Amino acid sequence: MTPRRCTRPIFVGDDRTGIVQIGGGLPLDADPRTASPGGDHSRPTQPAPISVQTMTAGYTHDIDKCVAEVLKLQAAGADIVRVAVPERKDTQALAEIIRQTSVPIVADVHFHFKRALEAVEAGVHKIRLNPGNISDRAQVQDVIRACADAKIPIRVGVNEGSIIERKDKLARAKELGAYFSEHKHGYLLAIMIAKLEEYLDIFYEMDFFDIAISAKSMDAMLVMDAYTEVSQRFPHPLHLGVTHAGPKETGCIRSVVALGSLLTRGVGDTIRISYANDPIYEVEDGLELLYCLGLRERKGAELIACPTCGRIQVDLFTLIQDVRTKLADQIQVPMKVAVMGCVVNGPGEAEGADVAVFAGNQRGIIYVQGEKVANIPEAEILDRLLSECVRFQERVRAGEVKLGEKKVEIVPPDPEGELGSGWEKVAAERMNGSRGPTPLTIKGT
Ligand code: SF4
Repeated sequence: MTPRRCTRPIFVGDDRTGIVQIGGGLPLDADPRTASPGGDHSRPTQPAPISVQTMTAGYTHDIDKCVAEVLKLQAAGADIVRVAVPERKDTQALAEIIRQTSVPIVADVHFHFKRALEAVEAGVHKIRLNPGNISDRAQVQDVIRACADAKIPIRVGVNEGSIIERKDKLARAKELGAYFSEHKHGYLLAIMIAKLEEYLDIFYEMDFFDIAISAKSMDAMLVMDAYTEVSQRFPHPLHLGVTHAGPKETGCIRSVVALGSLLTRGVGDTIRISYANDPIYEVEDGLELLYCLGLRERKGAELIACPTCGRIQVDLFTLIQDVRTKLADQIQVPMKVAVMGCVVNGPGEAEGADVAVFAGNQRGIIYVQGEKVANIPEAEILDRLLSECVRFQERVRAGEVKLGEKKVEIVPPDPEGELGSGWEKVAAERMNGSRGPTPLTIKGT
């Protein structure tokens, strides 16, 4: 992992919602016209943990439904929630939505700058502007002035799809010369960077620096190139995302390949995964991505599950999905839970799990930190596994056990005998050398 790139941090939220810092590393008063982004700084501020954002899918003017959606997304772990405000009736709903929720709200403004002014007036915590469709200098200045007075930041989101100039490829390519000609989408990249430079000049002229930047595309490769270029040019926090990534099934791959690559290189301060699906998946998958990269401390259980194969003797797919749902509801400590289809590879692959079940012959054997606690029929696996997880969580909270502390080796039951019944015999045979693999000898010892 490359250390996080340094940026001038922004702060989103208020005393009531809590304040989410995005980016950091440079001084709070760093002048982005002279500060250089990168990792080699004395770090007068620390980069904040990478935050997860999402956007509501329903109408903002439908206050009750919007509030319910925001609360659901917040409960799922969203640090910041964005809402669309295409019409006056949407900005009119904002004050009440903000009053009834407790997570920072961002107003996504397109096409009419007055929606931004109304959103600021309503108490929104951040504005998102698109240079592709709000470009009038005086109007942008009005929005900047309002945000400066309200002390809220602005995200400048330059989306590849909404850049008007992309339609005039030849003219722009001529104007921008051979910039980025080595890239697959060089001219688009050049337009995005040029557009950002022009737009940010308006902000810099007004000494407004509380800025985050996004440079999204539906093309994962362009996203990686665009953010890499932006990260080297502007010392502002970056909001990462692959826009219009598609359905969850394929959008997940598209988003993770681009965002994962950038994050491992220290690029990115807040993320939004976008799917054509319930935004709750965007939050769940965004968090999981950060957990996998070690960029956020896990909340809740980590589920390990086997992919199944011809050895399976229970309905493991259903069991895994049921366990996943119940763990999300009932477990808040970051314990590892393994659901394995058999005893052949299961124990090795579940190594380190705090609670594990190994299925086989329509039964399941449950271990808690290596100790066998149950050998039960398939129909009882789900309830018993969850009750063991809940009990284990209570013991962790009481300080009786530590996560990841394995007391006893998980040993598989003898696959040749009745489930769970023959291990002692196998173990004894291994001990006297009549069965099992030859012990390894390390050269020179
Ligand atoms: S744990 Fe068993 S059932 Fe699952 S994939 Fe491995 S060998 Fe197959």
